[in-house]
Amino acid sequence: DTNSPFLEFNSSIPESGLVLAWLTRDNTKPLRPVKGSALHTRFGSFQHSSMISSKYGTQLASSSSNQAGFIYLLHPTPELWSLSLPHRTQIVYTPDASYIVQRLRIRPGSKVIEAGTGSASFTHALARTVAKNGRIWTFEFHEPRFEIAKKEIEDHGLDGVVKCSHGDVCVNGFIPACDEILDASAVFLDLPSPWLAIPHLKTVISKEKIVRICCFSPCMEQVQRTIETLQKEGWLDIEMVEVSCKRWEARKEMIRKPQDAIERLRDIKRRRNEGLKKRNERKLAEEQNDEAVSEAQENAAATPAEKHVPDKPFLPSEYNPWGKGKRVHEGEDGYEWKDVSKVEAELKSHTSYLTFAYLPPPVQGKDGNIVSE
Ligand code: SAM
Repeated sequence: DTNSPFLEFNSSIPESGLVLAWLTRDNTKPLRPVKGSALHTRFGSFQHSSMISSKYGTQLASSSSNQAGFIYLLHPTPELWSLSLPHRTQIVYTPDASYIVQRLRIRPGSKVIEAGTGSASFTHALARTVAKNGRIWTFEFHEPRFEIAKKEIEDHGLDGVVKCSHGDVCVNGFIPACDEILDASAVFLDLPSPWLAIPHLKTVISKEKIVRICCFSPCMEQVQRTIETLQKEGWLDIEMVEVSCKRWEARKEMIRKPQDAIERLRDIKRRRNEGLKKRNERKLAEEQNDEAVSEAQENAAATPAEKHVPDKPFLPSEYNPWGKGKRVHEGEDGYEWKDVSKVEAELKSHTSYLTFAYLPPPVQGKDGNIVSE
């Protein structure tokens, strides 16, 4: 029976249970808490003993006396795992993974072929989707990478669902290490030459259901060769898609008038003149050692700015649209605002082209209809 934090939710952190320690937006560290150990970071040290039995999602304060940092103890998910996993290769990120899973109609109980395994980022997303009754047969020809992925899948309790095999699928086809008969209804190929692997698929895909495929390739020449092979092998409805993930932001921007800019320039000039005047007065006072002049200078320094200038300056307590002054909150009454949208920095996603197609089954249902799933 499978007991995996990627398939089941635990509310509290067990000793040696997988925790994803969230340090910053770009830095999440996987760890397994054991009594007596600590996580040392630039935000301070965090005792493993304080993590054990805490609720997942807890904010943990640093135990270092000189650092007030904190981390979040998060429950493993394929999304967080792909942000924290040790990279052995380029990986499939969540924006692509979620799109591929729904286009291939993968769901609990689905049977999927994947090659290559790489860093097993997508393998985790697939495993969570197919769940305990599904099956992922994943292939990798780079031996050390295969060994690491296999161990990781076992450590994560996913070996009941994911079967890792070592081999070159372009040369030898999809020969599993386990003694199962492969009858996948979804195929995902993230390989440099998917067109060499496609002809080997016929013997390992379902003979009764529609089979869907996705090939993940970074360049157009690879896409073209893949499409030619898919056509030759009888795959239908071939379509190429690029997932371009951008986050949009909606906010208000204050409407600033040219008159405000002119006022700002006048303000700068006025302050400069004031400064020069005060400096000259101070110089004169020093030179003449004249107490009367010195007194005048002190008075001038204590006098509000308005006294020196006829037109209205920006007071520090006032809102100054072009410089320092009172902080105005977005959308605050008394100011004019317009709605704007701005693209935030792109989300982490690997820009590859996704080629989709499907293959109808050679064997049809009793009434001659295709069994769709
Ligand atoms: N999708 C993976 C992930 O999300 O972590 C990354 C896959 S990585 C880009 C491609 C992998 O395919 C590499 O690990 C490579 O060794 C493997 N590979 C390349 N050609 C192969 C072949 N003919 N048979 C099996 N594996 C192959």
